[in-house]
Amino acid sequence: MKKLKLHHWILLSMALGAAIGLPLNWAAGQGHVSEGTVRDLAKVGNELGGLFLRLLQMLVVPLIVSSLVTGVTGMGNLKRLGRLGGRTLLYYMVTSLLAILTGMALVNLIQPGVGADLDLLQSGVAESLPKVAAKSDVLEILWDQIVNMIPKNPLRAASEGDMLPIIFFSLLLGVFISVVEHASPHAPDKRNPGLVLREFFASLFDVMMRMTLWVVALAPFGVFGFMLFAAAGHGFAAFEALGLYALTVALGLLIHATVTLPLLVKVLARRSPLELAKAMSPALLTAFSTASSNGTLPLTMQCIEQRAHVPQRVSSFVLPLGATINMDGTALYEAVAVLFIAQVYGMDLGLGQQAIVAITALIASVGAAGIPHAGTVMMVVVLAAVGLPTTAVGLILAVDRILDMCRTAVNVWSDTTAAVVVERYAPEPAEPVTS
Ligand code: ASP
Repeated sequence: MKKLKLHHWILLSMALGAAIGLPLNWAAGQGHVSEGTVRDLAKVGNELGGLFLRLLQMLVVPLIVSSLVTGVTGMGNLKRLGRLGGRTLLYYMVTSLLAILTGMALVNLIQPGVGADLDLLQSGVAESLPKVAAKSDVLEILWDQIVNMIPKNPLRAASEGDMLPIIFFSLLLGVFISVVEHASPHAPDKRNPGLVLREFFASLFDVMMRMTLWVVALAPFGVFGFMLFAAAGHGFAAFEALGLYALTVALGLLIHATVTLPLLVKVLARRSPLELAKAMSPALLTAFSTASSNGTLPLTMQCIEQRAHVPQRVSSFVLPLGATINMDGTALYEAVAVLFIAQVYGMDLGLGQQAIVAITALIASVGAAGIPHAGTVMMVVVLAAVGLPTTAVGLILAVDRILDMCRTAVNVWSDTTAAVVVERYAPEPAEPVTS
């Protein structure tokens, strides 16, 4: 018999989680089994998935640091890094805006909130949001992002898993390792300190990739747990009132993931989107079931380097940054959700107001962390910008887990397409020279 590959195992375990969870959720709704039992089972699934996610999260910081430092020292100089950064940011902005426009076109066309039953929606407000502080002033959020990029203490940033400051410090560390290496090339009496550090981080990176491979082998168990949690704990009941809204978000995500992004891959990177998706399938499936693009990052890096063969000097920069600030799926979802809520409240948002929604949705997606439900928490920014009550987030929570899973997969897919597109236009590696 043909040996099953990892992504087959992941798919099978997803199907198994759903096959056990959905009937149980239905049976609990009908009163055939006690709701408490099903809730407990969903909790067990969540714990099992949580173990896997923690293992992945354990790798994120050392992997990002070693990967970025190695990538930058392989890049050569600051100018090259700047060019790579500029192209990456441009791609991120453009795809996120395309995603938002897709979502907005659909929500205006389908109008899922017009005539929706507000009482029925409010009866579903049972779930609570994770405790993440969210500000509602857009400028303040942007400014915070910029200031907090500079860590007062890099070790604290690392210990708290603050991605942007870690990225900023690692980039600088890489640049100055190169500077030191080339400032003292002829020191016969001692080893070149820059070289020592470059080799150290390259070795650390290799070891972290090996560890990732080991954790990845456990993916089917984690994915099974999360699917059981989602299927048994959430089921279909919530779709009664929110079905059309969920469908609008899902359709938007589908169009963005299967039409817009593949077109960019085909035209700009001249690569087969299908092959790329196949190579990335373990990461995409894991993103779907964990709903955390941050947690999936080690797997995304593993797949893109070993299976999609994107050079590390590009992926080491594009992916960690993408997992932090590039969230097409989240941006689309924020825009659709806010316009849906406006429709429910009977508020007619004109073109100007909708443009505000688009821009704030973009900013909110940049500010959202790559963890479950982060996008939902950030939505208060967009709601506040057009004068909607921020508590209205509660109306859409009942279907949020499944939508979170879908948008996280799109977020990771978008980072992946960025890596192959940017690779094509990335400056060639050159003799390392100082800036
Ligand atoms: N869960 C998403 C992610 O990790 C963020 C969101 O809530 O939209 O990418």
